Amino acid sequence: MTDQRAPENSPGGTMEAVVNLCKRRGFIFPSAEIYGGFRSTYDYGPLGVLMLRNVKDAWWRSMVQMRHDVVGLDAAILSSPKIWAASGHLENFTDPLVDCKSCKERSRLDQLETCLVTEDLLKTWSKKGWKGLEKINLGDQVPVCSSCGSPDLTEARAFNLMFKTFVGPMEESGAEAYLRPETAQGMFVNFSNILNTSRKRPPFGIAQTGKSFRNEITPGNFVFRTREFEQMELEFFVPPAESDRWFEYWLKERFDWYLNLGIPEESIRLRHHDSQELSHYSAGTCDVEFLYPWGWGELEGIANRTDYDLTQHSKFSGEKLEYFDQQSGERYTPHVIEPAAGATRAMMAFLLSAYAQDEVGGETRTVLRLDPRLAPYKVAVLPLSKKEPLIDLSNRVFDLLKVRYMCDYDETQSIGRRYRRQDEIGTPVCVTVDFDSLDDESVTIRSRDTTDQVRVPIGELLSLLGDKLGF
Ligand code: ATP
Repeated sequence: MTDQRAPENSPGGTMEAVVNLCKRRGFIFPSAEIYGGFRSTYDYGPLGVLMLRNVKDAWWRSMVQMRHDVVGLDAAILSSPKIWAASGHLENFTDPLVDCKSCKERSRLDQLETCLVTEDLLKTWSKKGWKGLEKINLGDQVPVCSSCGSPDLTEARAFNLMFKTFVGPMEESGAEAYLRPETAQGMFVNFSNILNTSRKRPPFGIAQTGKSFRNEITPGNFVFRTREFEQMELEFFVPPAESDRWFEYWLKERFDWYLNLGIPEESIRLRHHDSQELSHYSAGTCDVEFLYPWGWGELEGIANRTDYDLTQHSKFSGEKLEYFDQQSGERYTPHVIEPAAGATRAMMAFLLSAYAQDEVGGETRTVLRLDPRLAPYKVAVLPLSKKEPLIDLSNRVFDLLKVRYMCDYDETQSIGRRYRRQDEIGTPVCVTVDFDSLDDESVTIRSRDTTDQVRVPIGELLSLLGDKLGF
């Protein structure tokens, strides 16, 4: 991957720096690396699995635990073709696919660069022997192949992004199934189940995190766009007349969530879709965008899906998916506001934002200034030496802390190098056990961000850490 420098006003790390750190420290590895990798798939290593879980937990806490109007769901990934026929995915979940006739590169038409056709350009293209030039007019903007620059492309054809598979031992049409391309439909098809069992009434929401699969034509930019990824989605069912209000409400809630977890204000914005960009089901969509090293791009989409999904599933299944309000005697199909985020994409944005380099003791250090809630380890317990009495005491300290916090324990290398390692993986606090600790039952706690060190009694450690970390 080329080093895509962060735009000047974008704080944080470059892609190259973050990708390297992820590999070197065990956040994210290219999948099947010993076989040369496998098509833009990634494995989350010991630190990545912790951080991704923290991202999802932070989302779940804010979207489910802290509210009384949202319940959770974990629906099946393997799903019936009937769901996707009703939702419109079988027909509409497509990207325009083109092939370059010169170098055979396959691309998404809407992601190709376009260029203004000049006489000089036509001459250069004909020198290269590229065909199809007679169809191109001077002064037109034409798309060109991103690999070789040729404008000689095939007509665009609709390519469905869903992964099809077969259930059971027969590969026949009756056994077809799809890997879900979004978690959302699981919430719609369970609408009645949840309404009947949870005692919720509109406005209320169903939340879900989990894997989704899309056969993206051009995956890339590390985990920004992959074929297998994790989503965090909420379907919030509201009385139709309240949909505009709730749409605005969720824009603010979701924007603030990212700010609160450390995305800098200058790296995040809301962008409303114009009418041409809107999906077939949407009465209004707004993206939360992040300033990636290559420019602004989607982090999360918030859509007013109206009653499209419930109406479609009613039509296709024959089941009424409505709400009967006993107080008003009114029966209606709720409208849906959907904040749909990517967990893996959000993790990348948090990593890019947190990456920093500063100087400590005359040396450059790399530090991930992650919010403590997202940091893989909250605390690292570091005995100053491997000598027996220190190890015993350090294990006692680890046992005390592990009940509340995900802790690392590291007894090798010099203490300076161990601090650097913890800084680089974003651990907010190190607890160092030294020989004085044996006498005074105290330890040193060191802050990642300031590198300040203070001596504290082991008995007060938990409450001091609680103050420092905020939980
Ligand atoms: P994009 O325009 O980037 O393809 P989208 O508008 O199709 O995204 P949605 O269907 O709204 O995406 O999905 C909600 C969220 O899921 C996105 O905002 C993104 O964070 C995440 N997401 C979607 N596709 C991918 C992917 N291929 N890889 C990683 N995350 C993804």
